[in-house]
Amino acid sequence: MLMDGRETAKELKKKIKMEIDDIKRIYGVTPTVASILVGNDPASEVYANSQIKSYQDLGIETQKYFFSGEISEAYLLNLIDKLNKDTEVDGIMINLPLPSQISATKVLNKIKLVKDVDGFKAENLGLLFQNSEDFISPSTPAGIMELIKAYEIDLEGKDVVVVGRSNIVGKPVAALVLNSHGTVTICNSHTKNLSEKTKMADVLISAVGRPKFITEDMVKDGAVVIDVGINRVNGKLEGDVDFENVKNKTSYITPVPGGVGAMTVAMLLSNILKAFKANRGII
Ligand code: NAP
Repeated sequence: MLMDGRETAKELKKKIKMEIDDIKRIYGVTPTVASILVGNDPASEVYANSQIKSYQDLGIETQKYFFSGEISEAYLLNLIDKLNKDTEVDGIMINLPLPSQISATKVLNKIKLVKDVDGFKAENLGLLFQNSEDFISPSTPAGIMELIKAYEIDLEGKDVVVVGRSNIVGKPVAALVLNSHGTVTICNSHTKNLSEKTKMADVLISAVGRPKFITEDMVKDGAVVIDVGINRVNGKLEGDVDFENVKNKTSYITPVPGGVGAMTVAMLLSNILKAFKANRGII
């Protein structure tokens, strides 16, 4: 069965919009996000602008800080300090990658905890590992979990194999699965006998970034396969999974596009709502 990220995201966005509209009506306040982009990476600019369009669709205002040229790390840290103090700004969204003269870790960690709508700050990741309710989860891992929930897949006691250990996908999704009582194996490029590990998976999550990396022989019959990968092949988007050959072996599988990617945007919007309420003292 196909796990439809677009439809699930649409439903979620509808609920988020309704809540934002209610808050606007009752309290007369509007959520505002500062969107920061540094450099000339066309893919990042397209992604940042498409995020801003989804903010507009939900009635979220944007302050755009797009720098095409070189700016210093100190300049960016000062800007974040100013935005942290601005009571009208509810969320700060830093579009990655940042140019080499700027440390992404330093910049992300400078964001005030309740304004870290991407959930990449070390403190937020720490709260996630503590299974605290107060954390803001990185959007892609949160989107994966929301999709799993929408299809009523219970992770308790399941063998879950995550391929990839990045700070934005692999590690946080592994922590979220652990918090849901799954048994997690995290693989990386040094993992020996990868297919032996992936074949054990009741739920296989691939976040590698290589097209057709997960082949039929790596997947157990009846597994749930979540494809996080986004790869551009001859101008088309493809995931990590050899979808056509793998799909018939699975009980559930996400398509690319229309799977995890669609959920990522919806979860970012959900994080913005959470930050908005926290910043404005709304329950
Ligand atoms: P990343 O930082 O490049 O991480 C890739 C991971 O894959 C690394 O941990 C790497 O291991 C592992 N890997 C590479 N080759 C491997 C191999 N042969 N066997 C096992 N593991 C291997 O990438 P990312 O940022 O996590 O993103 C992964 C993919 O997801 C990309 O295609 C990206 O575009 C996509 N993505 C999609 C969304 C979405 O919304 N759908 C969001 C974020 C990312 P090492 O650590 O050992 O190098």
